[in-house]
This record gives sequence, C-alpha cells and structure tokens, in this order.
Amino acid sequence: MKTIGLLGGMSWQSTQIYYQLLNSMTAQRLGDLHSAKLLLFSFNFAEIEALQAKERWDDAAKLLIAAAINLEKAGADCLCICTNTMHKLADQVQASIDIPLIHIADATAKSILKHGTSKPLLLATRYTMEQAFYKQRLIQKHNIAVTTPNSEARKQVHNIIYNELCQGIIREPSKTQYLDIIQHALNKGADSIIFGCTEVGLLISASDFDVPCFDSTELHAQAAIEFSLGGN
Ligand code: GLU
Repeated sequence: MKTIGLLGGMSWQSTQIYYQLLNSMTAQRLGDLHSAKLLLFSFNFAEIEALQAKERWDDAAKLLIAAAINLEKAGADCLCICTNTMHKLADQVQASIDIPLIHIADATAKSILKHGTSKPLLLATRYTMEQAFYKQRLIQKHNIAVTTPNSEARKQVHNIIYNELCQGIIREPSKTQYLDIIQHALNKGADSIIFGCTEVGLLISASDFDVPCFDSTELHAQAAIEFSLGGN
C-alpha cells in the first residue's frame, strides 16, 4: 500500500470527507481492519482564502509548495490537493516535487468520459468556473464541453460555498437555489453535473437528480486509492 499525501483544510469540511472516503474505500478493497496510509497537512483556510480574494496566487503557491515538499520528505508517495480551486497552482506544485500529483480534474474527467455524457454543468467557486485552469483542462485535454451558470448564478454558487458550506452551514434555501440553477442549465441542454468544489456534496447529492453527477471529492479519493492500492 502506498502512502497518500493530502494538502487539506481547504476547507476542513471537505477534508474530513476525504479522510472518511480514503479509509472506507481501503476497507472495502482489503477488508477487516485495513485503513488508508496517509499524511495530511491541513491549512488554516482563512489564510488561504485571504490570498485567493486578493489574487495573491504566487504567495499561496509558496505555502502549498512548502507543505507538499514536507509531505514528500515525510514519506508520501503521491499528492492530492483536496480542493478544485487550488488546482490553479497544480503545475507549480508538481514542478516542485518528485512524487506524482493526482489531478482532481483528470479524475473527474475520467468518470465523465466513461459515462459518455458530453455537456456537463460545472458548479464550483468563481475561480474554478471563471478562470481557465480547470475548464481548459476539461476542454483541451479531455474534449469535454463543460458549461457554467450565468454570472448572477455563479456569484450565488460561489457565495454559498464560502459563506456556508466551508463553514459547515447547510441551509435548505441554498439547496433550493442550487437546484434552480441546475434545472435552468438542464433545460438549456446540460446533460450532467460536476460537483467541482469539494464541499458541494454537502448540499446536494446524486439522488437529487435524474442525470449523472460527478462528485470531484469522491472521484479524487477514488483515484488516490487506485494509486495507493493499484488496479480499479
Ligand atoms: N474546496 C473548494 C474547492 O474545491 C473551495 C475552497 C477553496 O477555495 O479551496 O474548490
């Protein structure tokens, strides 16, 4: 079993899901008392969020790179950045370490391609929905025609992530807002939904929809387990 390195705490609300998934997937694969070998560095998310909001990505990169190098030195065999948004810095982080970074967009794309859906709606932070680093990877590397909500809806999706989900606040009116935004996109031709923020699964779940849902947290954890244990 290989050791999984995690950069977490972005936010801890989803890192605890990673911890649970990695351990339960390992137990499912190996049985009895088996659990995942992992190393976690958990950031103070307030510090990271402040850098994001000021677009100080280079300073954020320094923090992630330092933590990633420490995880490698401590014995991690691979690295997972437990947030979609901070994959904006994935190439810089990968260039600073010798262990493989398991990319959350690639793990998500693999499942989308397997299902054969072609026009997924991306629900994520404003950074992930509006900047190129994530969408371009889906479009150019994986040939997936990802769509995003309109600007007002993107703002709502983003605010609910930071003001509620990352703080463990789950509100029914916010779920209704997400469902409305998704229904609108489905009416306009979207054929599936990407939970492209690791906290989105706290608010909505695949059982809320008739179309395929791709939860980046689950798919990322699955990819890490495939690396750790081999095979599928
Ligand atoms: N965990 C979230 C994501 O997957 C948002 C928090 C962050 O900005 O890292 O993008």
